[in-house]
Amino acid sequence: MQNSLRIFEYVMRHRRLVAMSVICAVGVSLFWTFNLSIVFPVVKVLFQDGSLHEFVDSEISELELLIAEHSENLLTLPASDVLHRARLQSRLGDDSRNLLLLTRVRSYVMPWVPTDKFDTMATMLGLLLLATVVKGIFIYFQDILVGSIVQLTVNAVRQDCFRAALKLDCQSMGQIGTPALMSRMTNDVEQMTVAIRLFGVTLVREPLKAAFCTVAAFYVNWRLALLSVTMVPLLGLVFNYFGRRLRRASHRTMESMARIYECMGETFGAARIVMAFCGFRKHRQQFFRANREYYAGSMKVVRLGALSRPISEVMGVVGVFAALAPGAYLVLRETTSIWGIRLASAPMGIAELATLYAMLAGTLDPMRKLSNVFEGIKRGMAGADRVFSLIDQRTIVPEPQSPRMMIPHKKSISLQNISFRYENDGDPTEARPLALRNASLDISFGEVVAVVGGNGSGKSTLLSLLPRFMDPSDGSVLIDGVDIRELRTKDLRSQIGLVTQETFLFNDTIHENIRYGNPRATREQILNAARKAQAAEFIEQLPDGYETQIGDRGGRLSGGQRQRLALARAIIRDPAILILDEATSAVDSRSEDVIHSVLKDFVVGRTVFIITHSLSAAFLDLVTRIVVMDQGQIIADGSCEEIRRTPEFARLLQGDPVASRAA
Ligand code: ADP
Ligand code: MG
Repeated sequence: MQNSLRIFEYVMRHRRLVAMSVICAVGVSLFWTFNLSIVFPVVKVLFQDGSLHEFVDSEISELELLIAEHSENLLTLPASDVLHRARLQSRLGDDSRNLLLLTRVRSYVMPWVPTDKFDTMATMLGLLLLATVVKGIFIYFQDILVGSIVQLTVNAVRQDCFRAALKLDCQSMGQIGTPALMSRMTNDVEQMTVAIRLFGVTLVREPLKAAFCTVAAFYVNWRLALLSVTMVPLLGLVFNYFGRRLRRASHRTMESMARIYECMGETFGAARIVMAFCGFRKHRQQFFRANREYYAGSMKVVRLGALSRPISEVMGVVGVFAALAPGAYLVLRETTSIWGIRLASAPMGIAELATLYAMLAGTLDPMRKLSNVFEGIKRGMAGADRVFSLIDQRTIVPEPQSPRMMIPHKKSISLQNISFRYENDGDPTEARPLALRNASLDISFGEVVAVVGGNGSGKSTLLSLLPRFMDPSDGSVLIDGVDIRELRTKDLRSQIGLVTQETFLFNDTIHENIRYGNPRATREQILNAARKAQAAEFIEQLPDGYETQIGDRGGRLSGGQRQRLALARAIIRDPAILILDEATSAVDSRSEDVIHSVLKDFVVGRTVFIITHSLSAAFLDLVTRIVVMDQGQIIADGSCEEIRRTPEFARLLQGDPVASRAA
């Protein structure tokens, strides 16, 4: 509820459009009622003798007579008979009002009405056409206005959502997950779109239409109208029952469609594995099962749909009968009461009855449309809840209140008693084990630190603390003696270059991918960085050179080429701190050698952390310091010479022939 109000805040930024759309809705409803009321003169002309002129004249003279009679009676009634006086006066009032209306009609409208019956009919139809056109124009503008309000609103929401998601920390982002984030900004926002449109169009227009028609129906004969209107909720209940069952069934069908998608995505996404392991049977069975479920679900929808139509039709006729029979009785038997209950003040004509029916029909249609609205709005509100909870989610890596100036890193990096625990997104009572335990490390500027250790020993976690992807649960990280939580993350990260095993290149040109490291870089600097990363050679051999589109995630390049681009991207940033997280794990040994030779020049004058598994001699030449990790702890730390002699290192080298040779 709270959140749907927040949608209104967005909507109300476009107040003028909202006001204009409401005006259009009023126009639509007025002309809708006008169109229906034209039934009266049409029936009059078609089914009754005499022209409209004669009718109006006779009505007027009749009313004049009645009024004269009433007034006379009023004079003769004794002053003490208050009840009769009141009745008579009220009837006098009604008649005078009608007389006033009719005399106005006679003097302003009738001069325009032809005396010939066919001409009259043609004029009516012309008027009907004109009114329909005007109504159509109002509908058009209302739809356009609401459409633009809706799009402006959801665009703003989507943008805020994206901005909020970008401000999140890595851990929260990972916990929500990419599919959920995408679904927030597509499905959920889309459902909001539907809800706002329903709200702006249907929920404004239809009740107005119903209201105008009801007023008109009451004007024709309020007693009969009241009787008929009581039938409406009954019909509503029947429609609602089927509507609900139908929606539930189709919701279930949609779920099984999602399973079909899931199955297809998984199968074709892993096509190679499916083929290699001959998993066809399993996938086929999965798919067939999902497909069968979908069939069962859709058949249920079909059955309900098939059933609901005849039943609602029968109910409709019952309702119509109940609503229409009394009126028909009054007209055809020419009386004013049924079973002694007075239902009309004077015998009704067929034209009045037809008008009444038309007005009732005019109330029913909006009701039917409205019955479908609430589900959509409810779903939109659920979507809004999810969207706004994402917009409201705060990062667990907050910016400092009063950030310190960051001077280029020149002295040291120090990890003090760091412990870290990943948050459990499932059951919060069951904490995960510590990923880092009491890790302390002091590094001087300019060192090249190799971080080694088994899988899951906490190497990546440790180095993720430097760019503040996460904050430690305990302890602190100092750069040049300043706690990094006191620095603006933007300043901090501007000093850090990162190369990971997965390169995460973007679907753009090579030039743009390198420039990502430093948007202010000139073309000269980009060529230079590519040369330094030893990427220039292969880039220049490509037909489009630096303008080559590299495809989704750089899919049109080889692994080694991607890695060299990622390196160029880090190089052009000219970072004081460079982090390589298994940057060479996925490339062949030649590319690895290339990268090591690139690093030889590049590491000078920077503090460098390299997570790696391969400890070749060439690589160890580069390194001034080795940190060995195991189960979240730093178990050895020292210069190459020192570490080589420790048993931990020996154990680590077992099964690594290249490194053992070097050692
Ligand atoms: P390494 O890089 O040394 O292989 P990591 O630092 O990636 O190890 O992981 C250390 C431990 O933290 C592992 O036990 C791993 O299961 C856990 N871990 C890593 N990333 C996450 C995460 N995003 N959420 C929860 N636990 C994680
Ligand atoms: Mg890792």
